[in-house]
Amino acid sequence: MNKDYDLVVIGAGIHGAGIAQAAAARGHAVLVLEQRGIAAGTSSRSSKLIHGGLRYLEQFDLRLVRECLRERELLLRIAPRLVHLTPFYIPVYAHTRRRPWQVRAGLSLYALLGGLKAHACFQMLPRRRWDKLQGLRSEGLQAVFRYWDAQTDDAALTRAVMASAQTLGAELCMPAMFDHAVPGATGCDIVFTHAGVARSVWARVLVNAAGPWVARVAARIKSLPPQPPAELVQGTHIVLDRRIVTSIFYVEAPRDGRAIFIMPWHNGTTLVGTTETPYGGDDPARVKPLPEEQQYLLEVVRRYFPQAQANISASFAGLRVLPGGESRVFRRSREIIFTADRPQQARVLSVYGGKLTSYRADAQQALRRLTDALPVRWPIADTRKLPLNPI
Ligand SMILES: Cc1cc2nc3c(=O)[nH]c(=O)nc-3n(C[C@H](O)[C@H](O)[C@H](O)COP(=O)(O)OP(=O)(O)OC[C@H]3O[C@@H](n4cnc5c(N)ncnc54)[C@H](O)[C@@H]3O)c2cc1C
Repeated sequence: MNKDYDLVVIGAGIHGAGIAQAAAARGHAVLVLEQRGIAAGTSSRSSKLIHGGLRYLEQFDLRLVRECLRERELLLRIAPRLVHLTPFYIPVYAHTRRRPWQVRAGLSLYALLGGLKAHACFQMLPRRRWDKLQGLRSEGLQAVFRYWDAQTDDAALTRAVMASAQTLGAELCMPAMFDHAVPGATGCDIVFTHAGVARSVWARVLVNAAGPWVARVAARIKSLPPQPPAELVQGTHIVLDRRIVTSIFYVEAPRDGRAIFIMPWHNGTTLVGTTETPYGGDDPARVKPLPEEQQYLLEVVRRYFPQAQANISASFAGLRVLPGGESRVFRRSREIIFTADRPQQARVLSVYGGKLTSYRADAQQALRRLTDALPVRWPIADTRKLPLNPI
C-alpha cells in the first residue's frame, strides 16, 4: 500500500466501486477502504433492476429517467452476462389507481425517453393472452401492458465494477474501517483501521461513498460545512420459496397504491419488494425487515396471485438515503446529491442517494466535480467501453 493517493474512496458499494473505476480509468492513484465486504451495504439489498424507473415519471423526474435508460443501454452492451432485458407486465384493474390511459401515456413517454429502440416499445396484451399470465387474478382485470426493462444481480455487478477498477490499478483495502480525516491545504490526512492496526494515508481528495453511513462518516471529517438534510428509509424484500412468475409483474399495493415488483429470482424463488419505512435505528448495519413489512408484501402477492402456494423463505432490508423533507418518502427525488467541502479544489466529496442503474454516469459526474482538485493524468481506459464480467 502506498502512502499518497489522488483519491481515497470510503465504501465498496456500487458508488464507491464506480468512482474508483472512473478515477483509475483516468489514470489516478486510488485506494478504496471497505469496512465489511464488497456490496455489503445497500448494493446487495436493492430490487436488482437496471431501469429508468417508470414511476419517477409521476414526479416528472425526466432527467433521471432519461439518464438511467441511457445507462441501461450501455450496461446491456458492456455487461451482457450481468444485465439482461426481461418483460415487465402491468395489470390494470377496476380498483387500481392508475387508469389504462395513464399507464399508456407513461409507457409512451418512457419509450420516447428510451430513444424508441426496439425494446423501448410496449404492448397492450390482447384478452386471449391473459390466461397465459401465470395465475394472475382475472377478476376486475381491465388491461395488461407489457414493456421491457432489465434485471441484474446487484452484488455481482458491484463486484464486477470493483474488479474492473482493480484491473486498472485501484487498490482495495478490506476490511478497513475509516476512522477520521483532517483536510489540509492541498489534500486530506486519512486514518483507518486495518487488521486491528491504525494506519494513515494522504490523498488529494477523500470521497465519502459510505451509503447509509454517509452522515456518520461526514461527522468524522474535520471542519466539514453543514451536510444536506437526509433521511434513511428502509426497503424490505421477501423471497418466496417457489417461482410463482417467470416474468416481472409490476403491481399496485392494494393498501396505498405503491408500486411493487414480483420477480423471478435465483434457484426457483420469487423476489417481492419493496417497502418504504422511515428508519428509526442508529446503526445501518442492523437494519432488518419488520414483520408488518413482510405482511404487507405477502398481501400484495395474495391479492394478485391468489392461487400461488408459496411461503416466505428469506427476507432482507436495505436503506435508501433520501433528501429530508415534508413530502411522503414515495414522492422524494431519487437523484444523487454530491456535496463538496469547498466550491473550488474540493478535498472532500460526499455522495448522498443515487441509483444502482446510473452508477457509471454518477461516477463521471463526481469526477467532473473534482477536476480542479486532481492532478492531470494520462487516461488509460474509457468506462463506456470496459466489459464487465461476473467474478
Ligand atoms: C430497497 C432498495 C431497492 C433499490 N432498488 C434499486 C433498483 O432496483 N435499481 C436501482 O437502480 N437502484 C435501486 N436502489 C438504489 C441503490 O441500491 C443504491 O443507490 C445503491 O446501492 C447505493 O450504493 P452505495 O454505494 O451508495 O451504498 P452502499 O452499497 O451501502 O455502500 C456503502 C459502503 O460503505 C461501507 N462503509 C460505510 N462506512 C464505512 C467506514 N467507516 N469505513 C469503511 N467502509 C465503510 C459499507 O460497508 C458499504 O459497503 C434501491 C435501494 C433500496 C434501499
